[in-house]
Amino acid sequence: MYRLALLSFHGCPVARLGEKDTGGMNVYVMQLAKEFGRRGHQVDVFTRYHDPLDPQIVELGEGARVVHLKAGPYDTTKQDLYQFIPEFLTALDSFRSEQGIDYDLIHSHYWLSGSIGMALSEDWDVPHVATFHTLAKTKLRARAGEQESEVRTNIERTVMQRADGLVVSTEMEKDDLVKLYQASRCRIKVVPAGVDLELFYPRGKDDAKQKLGIQENRVILYVGRIEPLKGIDILLKAVALLEDPADTRLVIVGGSLEDDLELERLKGLSETLGIQEKVTFTGSVPQGILPDFYSAADVFVLPSYYESFGLVALEAMACGTPVVVSRVGGLKTFIKQGETGYLIPWRCPEPFAQRLDILMANPDLKESMGKAARAQALEMSWSGVADRLLDFYSDLLAESWVSVAGA
Ligand code: UDP
Repeated sequence: MYRLALLSFHGCPVARLGEKDTGGMNVYVMQLAKEFGRRGHQVDVFTRYHDPLDPQIVELGEGARVVHLKAGPYDTTKQDLYQFIPEFLTALDSFRSEQGIDYDLIHSHYWLSGSIGMALSEDWDVPHVATFHTLAKTKLRARAGEQESEVRTNIERTVMQRADGLVVSTEMEKDDLVKLYQASRCRIKVVPAGVDLELFYPRGKDDAKQKLGIQENRVILYVGRIEPLKGIDILLKAVALLEDPADTRLVIVGGSLEDDLELERLKGLSETLGIQEKVTFTGSVPQGILPDFYSAADVFVLPSYYESFGLVALEAMACGTPVVVSRVGGLKTFIKQGETGYLIPWRCPEPFAQRLDILMANPDLKESMGKAARAQALEMSWSGVADRLLDFYSDLLAESWVSVAGA
């Protein structure tokens, strides 16, 4: 049995998903914590308080819990969080002493937590595994207009040099770590992310549409955070270009319906394009009802400039829905061109519109692609991800015990 400290400083696994800073990473950390706990390990996920109403400890299930620690004002934005790392470190160490737990291994998520993991690994003398989820340099390369601080890049590089192990979701990400940050290839483990197959499975299309109040015959869906890197402009423009736009609804799930400048901008764009009557912006919705959205959709679209993995596409596939996505990052690794969906190499609306037209005009194609998509998703459970990570942890712990014994 291992005692594992998972660090997710800015991303709370129990926070509402699909808002500005809550997405795939939160899901990843929560699913793994649960899987590790189910296997008899003791798992604490450390995150900061985001809300005064957060209880300090939230049980995630057998053996796994989220621990909230005070670090900076509740509403601090991600950009300003770095300065509160010392406060978090102090709170974490006091928690550990009070509880009398000696963790065996630390797994940090994102660069901010990577920096915390480095410090704790030295203090506690235990291995540190880091997963970045996104990298500053990859984001900057993906889309003009992205901004990232030099502090972030420098910390990412230092964490890559000092961590005992690095986990990425794809071979491409591994290459990025090596080429852009000079990380050492032999310390990187590629473990593709997974999907919750108990939640994401096909529901009846008509039932799902009825539950969601969708009247139209054809449904196109986007789910995810609302930010420029996701390329939602491209989707709106593609819908405006559809050959047969009658009886079609575009549903955009994610973001906040209040004070979300990007969402307002997208609403403005749909008006400019004259498609506002066809588009519904739902704001973020609890993950538990997403299967209805995926099942109601004829096609799921993810037109991102970059995706390190793209969990939402895999969730749509698990619900038997074909996907039309940008040919970027992790999406290339689990979507088979023309078999489980379409991968579009260009970041422009025309090819998206063309693929949408093809799929929506061919029910048989849509059905066979949806079936193939589901079959692919069935191979990618979180349970498999957890097994592979635990093997990696075991190797690192064995190495560290050997080096202690040899010292
Ligand atoms: N999600 C959600 N509700 C929403 C929007 C998104 O539960 O309104 C979840 C979705 O199910 C997925 C995650 O947020 O698991 C987004 O992960 P993804 O890897 O697609 O995107 P990221 O946020 O990492 O860019």
